[in-house]
Amino acid sequence: MLSLRGLNVHYGKIHALRDLSLSVGEGEAVSVVGANGAGKSTLMWTLAGVLRPTSGEILFAGAPLPSRPHEVVRSGLALVPERRRLFAELSVEENLTMGGYLRRDAGLGEDRERMLELFPILRQRLAQTAGTLSGGEQQMLAIARALMGRPRMLLLDEPTLGLAPLMVDQVMETLDSVRRGGTPLLLVEQNAQRALELADRAYVLETGSVVREGPARDLLDDPVVRRAYLGDL
Ligand code: ATP
Repeated sequence: MLSLRGLNVHYGKIHALRDLSLSVGEGEAVSVVGANGAGKSTLMWTLAGVLRPTSGEILFAGAPLPSRPHEVVRSGLALVPERRRLFAELSVEENLTMGGYLRRDAGLGEDRERMLELFPILRQRLAQTAGTLSGGEQQMLAIARALMGRPRMLLLDEPTLGLAPLMVDQVMETLDSVRRGGTPLLLVEQNAQRALELADRAYVLETGSVVREGPARDLLDDPVVRRAYLGDL
């Protein structure tokens, strides 16, 4: 579904992504874990069409990924950005509607209902402005809003950042059901434990390079990964 080969991204002289190659298959959940500054957000913003790679190839659904953000969204790749970036002054209902604004089909009402089934908490909050929701509720709304565009694949930048453990559980369960519904996911996370539990496969990113990759289960058992990212001594 998504394939990156030899991707390099620079900020001036800073080499933020180095020869990065990774892939996400149909129906797969893939995590990229790494510490602060590893390049996770850079990867997400490059995929969203906001940052331009200096070299390398990005293929999405068999074609080169478009180079501008709105074309990327139109091609079916939706980003749920870090810290959510909702329309804080708009209600939950209005945020959901905005999520479907690029669509011209008649299924919007049906999808709104599907989202409210997936995120029952949002149904109770439909008229409330997004800025007054709790962190976890905002994250769910951000995911629901992205799904309203019927993306072919979802990118998530640190969806559990700053959330209480119970909320982390809920967000992860939701992502699992999104994946089971057939939408592939690429998730970047500092929370390696949760990200590896959710994913089928994963990559470990250090200073812009992939230093380990494989089935998420294997990485969870890998002593080097455990020491560096999971707090083992
Ligand atoms: P975090 O989890 O802290 O957000 P990250 O893994 O998402 O970290 P990035 O934000 O992608 O990491 O940063 C990768 C590298 O690029 C870092 O060394 C960072 O300082 C640098 N960088 C990021 N944004 C810019 C920018 N706008 N200008 C210059 N350097 C940048």
